Amino acid sequence: MELFHKLGDKAREIGGKARDIGENIGEKAKGVGGKALEITKRSGELIEITKLKYEISRLEKEMENNLSGLGLLVYQKYRGTEGQDEEIERLCKSTVKLEEDIKAAEAEIAKLSPKPPFCPDCKVELPQGGKFCSYCGKEILKDEEV
Ligand SMILES: [Zn+2]
Repeated sequence: MELFHKLGDKAREIGGKARDIGENIGEKAKGVGGKALEITKRSGELIEITKLKYEISRLEKEMENNLSGLGLLVYQKYRGTEGQDEEIERLCKSTVKLEEDIKAAEAEIAKLSPKPPFCPDCKVELPQGGKFCSYCGKEILKDEEV
């Protein structure tokens, strides 16, 4: 019985502490929440850009597959295999479409990130006011319309 009471008290004590901590965290969370709202828009854009970049690398991979497939088909045709034209046509069309999709995604990224500037060559993000790309060394022209 005695032990039970002690445990009960201990449990209440811990419960009280937990409540205090909970309220404390709640207050802190409110403060963080305000800041989070401020940066939510910006990080939303960053997430969108990350998604688009991921999509571009996926499309590029698909394009590579198409092109190596095309290479094989053209070679087979050259070696006398017949009936490859239809597949070649299909892969060419698919590759053109992929190219367009990549361009569209890149344009979307450019729209989402007008600043900071990006290197027109390697798309690396550049510090404000930089004259040369820190990655490939290309000279960055001021106010260049891309
Ligand atoms: Zn560059």
